[in-house]
Amino acid sequence: MSTKRDYYEILGVAKTATPEEIKKAYRKVAIQFHPDKNPDNKEAEEKFKEAAEAYEVLSDADKRAKYDRFGHSRGSSGGYSGGHEMNMEDIFSQFGDIFGGGGSPFESFFGGGGGTRNGRRVRKGSNLRIKLKLTLDEIANGVEKKLKVNRLIKAEGVTFKTCTTCQGSGQVRKVVNTMLGQMVSSSTCPTCDGAGQVIDKRPSGVDNSGLVSKEEVISVKIPAGVADGMQLSMSGKGNEAPGGVAGDLLIVIEEQEDKQLKRDGNNLVFDLYISFVDAALGTAVEVPSVNGKVKIKIDPGTQSGKILRLRGKGLKDVNGYEVGDQLIYVNVWTPKKLTAEERTKLESFRQSPNFEPHPDANEKGFFERMKEFFN
Ligand SMILES: [Zn+2]
Repeated sequence: MSTKRDYYEILGVAKTATPEEIKKAYRKVAIQFHPDKNPDNKEAEEKFKEAAEAYEVLSDADKRAKYDRFGHSRGSSGGYSGGHEMNMEDIFSQFGDIFGGGGSPFESFFGGGGGTRNGRRVRKGSNLRIKLKLTLDEIANGVEKKLKVNRLIKAEGVTFKTCTTCQGSGQVRKVVNTMLGQMVSSSTCPTCDGAGQVIDKRPSGVDNSGLVSKEEVISVKIPAGVADGMQLSMSGKGNEAPGGVAGDLLIVIEEQEDKQLKRDGNNLVFDLYISFVDAALGTAVEVPSVNGKVKIKIDPGTQSGKILRLRGKGLKDVNGYEVGDQLIYVNVWTPKKLTAEERTKLESFRQSPNFEPHPDANEKGFFERMKEFFN
């Protein structure tokens, strides 16, 4: 995503900013561009999301370190690269961390993490979160999974009546003192929690939420290219709320480590070991890939540390554009044990000028090669 702005620039901090400075800066930008303060302003919303994404990366030491090294374009399994767009729910969940918990003046301003948008509040059931383990193969090709989920659903036979506290509007008005001055705010009716309705009759065995737990099998299509820690959200598949809408089912991806192929962002890395005889004479070898075995040629005179690239044999970007490569790191194996005969033969090469190392300008050191592959 070359069009992306620099994360430090977005938050207006120096590259050397401390975590506390980053938090402060994000708080400032988030208040400035918050959707509740900028209704129907697309540009503010974009800035708001952009800041949230920047904060997500810069507030995580590991992601920040990767971002500092590789920028936006490549090389992270942290899930921020390749245009990971945050949805509003992710962003609001960050606020718990930023704006603190109960009693903060921001709570009413930011709606307290419910379904508040532009003053309307729809009662929303709680979200369900489940972990889903995937193999590299499933990640590479995408997969359809059937998930067993225990959801709270509306019990049969429950009836509702209009809430008398708010006369069915779901809102009560009050004046709040916030950091931004005195604001008349409509807040959620405490009696019906914003639904405008309360339970009238319920059958025995149903608690006063009017909900019962039920196991359901939910089928979910996992797109190719997801990464560890990514969260997929299935709207309306969480717990139901009486008189409202169901929460979301949040599926957190867990990546099972592959024994042979290591993931680096959308690239896959394979460590290949060849003998120094094969390195000198050249050979053909089979290497594993996510689409089965691939035959590759090792040129005569191949140096240890050479990186071969199988273009397009990596992982698809989860957003659908860009496919990673498979990188093959060539390691030349030096024998650790030799027979007397092998020793004599090798001894005879010791003085041979061809065995004398003389790297020319084309031989690049390890760091040179790394730089080349990540830029
Ligand atoms: Zn009410």
